[in-house]
Amino acid sequence: MSALYGTYARSELAFERGEGVRLFAQDGTAYLDFHSGIAVNALGHSDPHLVAALKAAADKVWHISNVFTIPEQERLGQRLVEATFADSVFFTNSGAEALECAIKTARHHFFAKGEPERYELICFTGSFHGRTLGTIAAGGNPGYLEGFGPPLPGFVHLAPGNLHAVEQAIGPQTCAILIEPVQGEGGVTAMTAEFMRGLRALCDKHGLLLILDEVQCGYGRTGKFFAHEWSGITPDIMAVAKGIGGGFPLGACLATAEVAKSRVPGTHGSTYGGNPLACAVGNAVLDRVLASGFLDHVDRMGQKLAWRLQQLAQRFPQYVVEMRGKGLLAGIKITPPVRDFVTRLRHDQHLLTQGAGDNVLRLLPPLIVTEADIEEAVGKIADAFAALDHEAALAPTGA
Ligand SMILES: *Cc1c(COP(=O)(O)O)cnc(C)c1O
Repeated sequence: MSALYGTYARSELAFERGEGVRLFAQDGTAYLDFHSGIAVNALGHSDPHLVAALKAAADKVWHISNVFTIPEQERLGQRLVEATFADSVFFTNSGAEALECAIKTARHHFFAKGEPERYELICFTGSFHGRTLGTIAAGGNPGYLEGFGPPLPGFVHLAPGNLHAVEQAIGPQTCAILIEPVQGEGGVTAMTAEFMRGLRALCDKHGLLLILDEVQCGYGRTGKFFAHEWSGITPDIMAVAKGIGGGFPLGACLATAEVAKSRVPGTHGSTYGGNPLACAVGNAVLDRVLASGFLDHVDRMGQKLAWRLQQLAQRFPQYVVEMRGKGLLAGIKITPPVRDFVTRLRHDQHLLTQGAGDNVLRLLPPLIVTEADIEEAVGKIADAFAALDHEAALAPTGA
């Protein structure tokens, strides 16, 4: 019996080491990783550049607190500002904390402007923003809210896709619109470019802030540095995490100067956020993600994966309902229960994947994945579908 909280239905599988897109179990068995620790290991496992950066940082100062200047953090912040819409960055340890900072930044912006009554955020069903009290309220998933007392007020939820409904929901209390450009946990649903542009236009028209949650879909995963780049718009605030640390806990809230300017000393803080080890690794991740050709590679592999999954859907129409996602945040809605199918892929095919809402099988390979890896993974999924067919043929019918 484990000493740990039972919050996860964990597999007993434990990994000893990893290399690129492969993980090796304690008994030496190799697994193909199309999971990436849920979209975190952007550069796969044991990337030599990241390992060297962490080892070098470990010989220096591990932790110092944000009451001192942290050169690695200054550098990472400067580089993120240069590569995005943002002028200012707050570093966190996780995605939920990046969202907390984003929500607080939006509310505080209007407070500082003398409009404290503007604190409501328009959010969307099917979202996932984290597991803190604030972010479960923002996500609005009833299953995650139940049992934890009254939800934090100030969030309304609409089905994504309907700009007219969004405009109707805007009132004198509204401060921002919060959305994942590609919903991850909720079912790998990519917003259309028209909807994203429409939200930006509504924010401009009504003086609201646009907050993007790019914790899962950002940092190269869709084939652009950030997913909103596909629609040609920019947000006012953006939450980032997962891929940013390549496996080291790190997150960030990015904002424009206009919005960030109210966050003066005393208005926010984090003991560990932007710590030297995390930011040394973060800088090494950025070296790779922004290197010439890297995002083109992700885009090509994303198209390759989509094409291969399309062929799979044609071959197994009884199991594949539809294709979803963008780039290397790919989903297929399937008919067999996704939990069992993820287990089957892991157990029988040694392929690691992740389920998502709406019975979607989520494929999240490291961004360094090759064409051969994609062929192999899709072949394994095909073998698992064929095994289901075979079992169905053997199963007694009727009574
Ligand atoms: C994972 C995730 C979060 C929460 O990140 P944590 O690091 O688990 O707190 C928030 N938003 C999205 C879109 C995510 O995928």
